[in-house]
Amino acid sequence: MIRKFLVLIFCCHFFLAGHSTPILAENSALNVPPLLEFLPPPPGQGEIDADRDIAIYRATRAERGGGRWEQAVFDAADKERLEVLFLDSFGLKINRETTPATLDLLSLVTGYMAKTINPAKDHYKRVRPFVYFEAPGSTCAPGDEEALLDNGSYPSGHSSRGWGLALVLAVISPERQGAILKRGYELGESRVICGVHWQSDVESARLGASVAVLQLHNAPEFLRLLEEARMEIGRLRSAAAAPVAKLRQEAPVDSGIPADFVRVTDLAPEVLLDIRYYSAYNFVGTRVDGYQAPAAFLARPAAQALARAAEAAEARGYILKIFDAYRPQSAVDHFVRWVADMKDQKNKAIFYPAVDKGHLFEKNYIAARSGHSRGAAVDLTLVERSTGQELDMGTPFDFFGVKSHHAAAGLTRIQAANRKELSSIMEAAGFRPYAEEWWHYSLADEPHPDTYFNFPVQP
Ligand SMILES: [Zn+2]
Repeated sequence: MIRKFLVLIFCCHFFLAGHSTPILAENSALNVPPLLEFLPPPPGQGEIDADRDIAIYRATRAERGGGRWEQAVFDAADKERLEVLFLDSFGLKINRETTPATLDLLSLVTGYMAKTINPAKDHYKRVRPFVYFEAPGSTCAPGDEEALLDNGSYPSGHSSRGWGLALVLAVISPERQGAILKRGYELGESRVICGVHWQSDVESARLGASVAVLQLHNAPEFLRLLEEARMEIGRLRSAAAAPVAKLRQEAPVDSGIPADFVRVTDLAPEVLLDIRYYSAYNFVGTRVDGYQAPAAFLARPAAQALARAAEAAEARGYILKIFDAYRPQSAVDHFVRWVADMKDQKNKAIFYPAVDKGHLFEKNYIAARSGHSRGAAVDLTLVERSTGQELDMGTPFDFFGVKSHHAAAGLTRIQAANRKELSSIMEAAGFRPYAEEWWHYSLADEPHPDTYFNFPVQP
């Protein structure tokens, strides 16, 4: 048995070395940092740090099957996923076609981390927690266990890659430093949760990786790739921002209300207004540009349809409550600027608790244009006339998450029925639902399908 594992390990080491040679030449003047000279040995039986490792291992067994465990399963295959590993925090897709230098850079870092960590791994040959506790098959990556039996636990290879890659990406994308470092840190925690590493393996790996990245800054091949990657990412970022800048020029700021637009309350005086973007109680956490009053405007045909919906609602014992109607392009521009500012996450807990802010664009929660600016979309809910209470729709308005989808799993019967009630009233009046937001309706037959208006919402 032992021989078989040794063969396996040798073949893997050979593979790693072979993988890194084309990028960081074998004869590179770059030495690996002397980990064995400064890292303390792994804690021995009975030492405080060993007891801590054991206690943390035991505590993290409770994670099995949960969301954090799933993340650990994903992270276990990190090397095959360099392109997506930091997607949420980095905010840009990297791939062979558009960002070859960035991918080469990440491979170089990955290879160099292995070279740095492996001598200490081989020297100490620390036993893995799932071996120590005689719990084969209990880790988040059972398929990896055999190969890990004779691969020293201290320091953790995955953790050194995660932290090393994060340190480098944070230099390329300083505006997202916090999110990137957090992700790199979590890659290490994943190894403990997985059950394949002790906490001290992960901590020593981060230390080793930090020194290794410092050392990389002495390697001309690293510096060249770093510069190329910076330029690649810079080009991608400005390409992503270009359509927004163009739009801003196109949309004229106009203070007058277009002749075709009407105040919703002129046609449907009974509707309630709770114009969230005029208040600070919205996902931005402040009043949004273009909202000079808590008012609702729509193009006339949409307002007429909404008045029909208000009547139908009244007949069923409800009142319509409007969160937003026409939305100036300047407000949408404000959303776009807000998304770019990763530091500002004031109302995250209410409106996007489970979505990374850096991902709001990619997941289409926020776009550079909104149907609302065409004057034929409305966000609303139902209020019970007898109690004055909003119906329970399962999520708040503007909740960014799958639970806002019409067909979301996990809704109570009442919540699902309440959404149905709203959609049947709105659809009968000529509106179309939006599958991903229970509150959003747009007029099926839009009067201005191609125009994005930019007059302020005004008193
Ligand atoms: Zn909407």
